[in-house]
Amino acid sequence: MTNSIFDVAIIGSGPGGYTTAIRAARAGLTTALIEKANIGGVCLNAGCIPTKTLIALAKKFKRTNTSFSTETSNANNQFLDVSNFYKQKNRIINQFAAGINFLLKQSGVQIIKGHARLKNNQLIEISTPEQNTFEIQSKTIVVATGSRPKDLPSIPWVEQKILSSNEVLNHEKIPNHIAIIGGGYIGCEFAAYFNSLGSHVSIIEALPGILPNHDQEISQMLTRVFQRKGIDIITNTTVTSAQIDNQIKLLLNNSTQLCFDLVVICVGRIPNTQDIGLENVGIETSNGYIKTGKFMETSVKNIFAIGDVTGKMPLAHTAYTQGKYAVAGILKLLNKHGKESNFYNSLPDEPNYDSIPSVVFSDPEIASVGLTTERAKSLSIDPRISRFPLTASAKAVIDGNTEGFIKILADPVSLRIIGAHIVGENASELISQMAIAIQNKLTAFDLAQVTWPHPTTSEIISESIEGLIDKPIHFIPK
Ligand SMILES: Cc1cc2nc3c(=O)[nH]c(=O)nc-3n(C[C@H](O)[C@H](O)[C@H](O)COP(=O)(O)OP(=O)(O)OC[C@H]3O[C@@H](n4cnc5c(N)ncnc54)[C@H](O)[C@@H]3O)c2cc1C
Repeated sequence: MTNSIFDVAIIGSGPGGYTTAIRAARAGLTTALIEKANIGGVCLNAGCIPTKTLIALAKKFKRTNTSFSTETSNANNQFLDVSNFYKQKNRIINQFAAGINFLLKQSGVQIIKGHARLKNNQLIEISTPEQNTFEIQSKTIVVATGSRPKDLPSIPWVEQKILSSNEVLNHEKIPNHIAIIGGGYIGCEFAAYFNSLGSHVSIIEALPGILPNHDQEISQMLTRVFQRKGIDIITNTTVTSAQIDNQIKLLLNNSTQLCFDLVVICVGRIPNTQDIGLENVGIETSNGYIKTGKFMETSVKNIFAIGDVTGKMPLAHTAYTQGKYAVAGILKLLNKHGKESNFYNSLPDEPNYDSIPSVVFSDPEIASVGLTTERAKSLSIDPRISRFPLTASAKAVIDGNTEGFIKILADPVSLRIIGAHIVGENASELISQMAIAIQNKLTAFDLAQVTWPHPTTSEIISESIEGLIDKPIHFIPK
């Protein structure tokens, strides 16, 4: 290991860490990236990429067969060999891991394998997998150590039986009856996946409904769709204990007992902020999350934090955006002005979390950005709301994907777009248009000047915008 002092050392190579490393190196900073496990973090190895691969494969298989069980074949007489899904998932992970490694090396990032721990605000101790320990020095540090699944104190993890989102991604068996504890987006995505494979799925949720942080109209629609597909949604219910014999017996707080072949616990995530030496430098935290300022700086001015450890919208693309701000802050602190300075200087004061979309890759997909109706009301905004159903979209009818709708919220006076929620095929692709509108403070009048191509599903946005001003053209709202 070189004895030189790095400009920036980044701890953790998830979507926050590795993109920040590439940015920093491209901006001319000498950059180290320290990773104790696999490059790509949770997103590539146990999150976004593996889940979306499995979901896409299961959806594709299901759509070629309207009614199949795990023993039957699909319409093309293909038997469901689920192990191929997992092989394909691993191929994709390996392909992207190789790609990220290549990009890091091409950008000049020094990759260091090992567990990092802050010794002081410029010194990091690294313990390698071979049990060696050494130190590196860096003028600035970015903590991007991510998060891990939260456990339920009343229920132990049991191999092959009671799993977290990590292990279930390598569980190559289709359970007859699976319980998913927790109805947030991760639980709902696993519910959609196992339902597509033919499992009987039960979601057990402590709150009154699934997707509690989403617009209630949207979560209610997903509830109806899930129920129609045969998914049981048990709300206002907690699991008090589990007993394992042939099956897993879950005891619920209402004293009923249910039996399952597999249980997956998806009750949230906790930040990886222990065991990284935060206490040695006095970085301030709140409930375990690292407190950050406008440029993702922590309470220690040359140490930055991004991604899930900040507790702000824990999504891969949030971490990407926060990384841009961290690099801007570091360039400023080190007084470096590279060719990228114009871009970094042009960043607004802090990331705008209201313009960051979130997606649930269920079937149909759900995508949201900005305020929900409930949140708008809690801020004393009585939003103007426009809805447009997919049944009135020519392209959705042509494609046979008419389940869903768009709902756009605008400020009642200026008609500035403040929120958008889409249920339907490709909602994940459509939502970015609304993110651009919110980020740029566009109004319904601005958007109504845009021409959308016909026939496309994206016309639901144009129709809904017309609805904010007056009425959609191809639909009469009730
Ligand atoms: C099942 C599931 C599905 C998801 N789906 C999506 C999705 O579709 N879209 C989306 O945007 N988000 C999704 N997420 C969330 C997304 O994966 C996270 O928000 C994202 O990975 C966070 O990125 P990060 O850079 O903060 O850290 P992580 O991705 O958590 O990476 C942190 C890295 O730091 C390393 N590390 C930790 N401590 C140390 C240390 N002391 N020394 C060295 N290395 C260390 C870890 O090994 C890890 O590789 C999903 C998450 C899960 C669990």
